[in-house]
Amino acid sequence: MKQMACKFCDCLFDAPAISHNEAAFCPMCKQKLIQRPKYSLQFCLSFAIASLFLFVLSNVFTFLAIDAQGQYHQMLLAEASFVFWQYDQVLLAILVLLVVLLIPLGLIISLIYILWPLLFQRKIAVGTCRLARIIFQLKNWSMVEVYLVAVLASLTKLTALASIEFGIGLWGYISFTICLSATLTNLDRHRFWRYLDKVKCHQNLKQQNQNT
Ligand SMILES: [Zn+2]
Repeated sequence: MKQMACKFCDCLFDAPAISHNEAAFCPMCKQKLIQRPKYSLQFCLSFAIASLFLFVLSNVFTFLAIDAQGQYHQMLLAEASFVFWQYDQVLLAILVLLVVLLIPLGLIISLIYILWPLLFQRKIAVGTCRLARIIFQLKNWSMVEVYLVAVLASLTKLTALASIEFGIGLWGYISFTICLSATLTNLDRHRFWRYLDKVKCHQNLKQQNQNT
């Protein structure tokens, strides 16, 4: 049987097989370690689709409009990275582009790509296992919440210097951050692999029935 360690007290024990609406507790410190909400993967997929829609919205519409000393400037979300580039902050530009735009977008598209056929057609998309491993690694590298807090903090300072209009893009980005957090919270690693195993068994049975 697979073993797992408690993240609170490092106690090592056999990982229990738990199903819907059940939870596993550490035998030593009694902390809750795994929980299986019934529709976590379905919730994850729904939030991922909503996030994709909001991501497009926040990138297509104006993020901010700044009016300072007679100069009016409208800005898109992706332009932040470009501005860093213009000021020779290449590393910052690449980091912002990766952590704020490319990694979250990659996460969302990959999640929809593997979860949609898995949940609706009981089919496994090509490269699901490899992609899922990358997703669980990248999950920790999506920092849209941190970026949002940074943006909001800078905005409070900027409002003192210039008049600022909040565009649809900013509201879209705030909603996107909330939806993406909900997507990642509902992405339960244990539940995903168990569900994948179930679909694999189902496919094998179907194949055997077809062959006989
Ligand atoms: Zn423990």
